[in-house]
Amino acid sequence: MRSDLAIAQAANKTPILKLAPAKADIPEDALEPFGRYKAKLSLDYIRSLQNRPNGKLILVTAISPTPAGEGKTTTTVGLGDALNHIGKRAMICLREPSLGPVFGMKGGAAGGGMAQVVPMEDINLHFTGDFNAIALANNLLAALIDNHIHHGNKLQFDVRRITWRRVVDLNDRALRQIVVGLGGTANGFPREDHFDIVVASEVMAIFCLVNNLQDLKERLGDIVVGHSLSGKPIRARDLQAQGAMAALLKEALAPNIVQTLENNLALVHGGPFANIAHGCNSVLATSTALKLADYVVTEAGFGADLGAEKFLDIKCRKAGLTPSAVVLVATVRALKYHGGVEVKDVGVENLKALRAGLVNLERHIHNIQHNFGLPCVVAINHRTEDTPAEIALLKSTAAALGVEVVLAEHWAKGGPGAADLAHAVVKLCEQPNHFKFLYEDDASLLEKVGTIAIKTYGADGISCDAKVRAQFAQLEADGYGHLPVCIAKTQYSFSSDAKLRGAPSGHTLVIREVRLAAGAGFVVVVCGDIMTMPGLPVIPAANGIDINENGEITGLS
Ligand code: ADP
Ligand code: MG
Repeated sequence: MRSDLAIAQAANKTPILKLAPAKADIPEDALEPFGRYKAKLSLDYIRSLQNRPNGKLILVTAISPTPAGEGKTTTTVGLGDALNHIGKRAMICLREPSLGPVFGMKGGAAGGGMAQVVPMEDINLHFTGDFNAIALANNLLAALIDNHIHHGNKLQFDVRRITWRRVVDLNDRALRQIVVGLGGTANGFPREDHFDIVVASEVMAIFCLVNNLQDLKERLGDIVVGHSLSGKPIRARDLQAQGAMAALLKEALAPNIVQTLENNLALVHGGPFANIAHGCNSVLATSTALKLADYVVTEAGFGADLGAEKFLDIKCRKAGLTPSAVVLVATVRALKYHGGVEVKDVGVENLKALRAGLVNLERHIHNIQHNFGLPCVVAINHRTEDTPAEIALLKSTAAALGVEVVLAEHWAKGGPGAADLAHAVVKLCEQPNHFKFLYEDDASLLEKVGTIAIKTYGADGISCDAKVRAQFAQLEADGYGHLPVCIAKTQYSFSSDAKLRGAPSGHTLVIREVRLAAGAGFVVVVCGDIMTMPGLPVIPAANGIDINENGEITGLS
């Protein structure tokens, strides 16, 4: 099999100015091209679509993954191609890749095998510059804070309680804890500061939840950047930062449009972290795609306990979206992993472990059907090492699981390889839909976390110390009690302990810390060690990436 990059570079791409009008009746003047194969959809055009009916929204999520990823992005692209292949008008919505994983360990995020979006190199390597714009807006706010303190600190910032951090879209552990303002009085007041990766910025989360520029400006103004010496929250608005921040984001806010290997349209826009943020592409891209296509396939980060829960309880709640169907991606290797096999051995046939690992899949199905009232299908993302006996075993469990289990071979065969999945999804979209949120706005913040822990994670309950309890009480007193909660925990387990595989129960969700994202409009509940500035591994993927004299990129995975 050729590498993802080799397949992507051999793609027969159509210029986007031709493709978008042909596939989705998008007028040429609604497109702002970035080269020949990427464009932005103008915000004026998006506004003009408002009164059109919506297509069906399909969420692609997954069982609890192994560290390599189980193929949600690949399946999202493959299913989009498959729906087009069976004659439906379908569009794909994805997150923009972050340079952290591209240069670090995991690699790019444009799909894989015969199910990719292209131009793969551009999409993976800072694309149309959106993340740089977000970093600038974020860092402008940081600069305004330090400048304000330098010039007299009228707002009385307590420099020990500034929560706003600087960001860069790279894994760079040396920047995790730093001191700024060194070098004498001309350089401001020294204080401890931190860098996060761009995808962890609250500006990213806000960017992905707004409907227009006005909305963006309002929410940027709402960001709480720190506290005064008397303990009062200080907002971006108090520094008059929101106007200039929104101005920097004007171009970026327009969704990017590209194509798949099979020349179907995809919107790739925004990319918040799936731990301390909600992990889905922008609301603007999703709601625009729903106006342009009959079926929109989109992905949420991590496994369904985190990704789907946040997609539904945060994004859909805020944007007024109702999905029509959920595709739960499973791989034979991850099920064996949940059945007790170590990562290095998951390529060896093991029916016993596969059977044992099904408990993980079962609980995710239960959660989607019963917690959220949504129709669900299981897509087995086929890998070449899967054996016929393993596939047969999985298919034979469909009756017991109460859902259709479909073998999907888009990675090897593109859209036609997932035609069965596409038919199953179309059927599912016609089924009764009883979509409901897991919790109501008016439940207390602790009740919301408790509901998620018990109903989704299979925990007995939650625990937190008096300090955290007081923080929750303070947030409610300050008027933030109605917000949804965004749980940050490991994606490898239903619990907050990455080592508890399968479907653990009886555990307690321990809340370590609470952070308010007042602009994004959620309360982040940290349960475990969450890294907001990852480091690079011993041999970073960056070492293998190169460009030759013809401008061709090599080594990107
Ligand atoms: P996720 O979105 O769930 O993190 P991705 O779709 O990005 O996962 O896939 C992770 C990696 O696995 C990618 O490098 C992709 O090329 C590869 N991959 C996905 N599906 C398959 C498959 N069926 N066979 C082999 N490799 C695959
Ligand atoms: Mg992905």
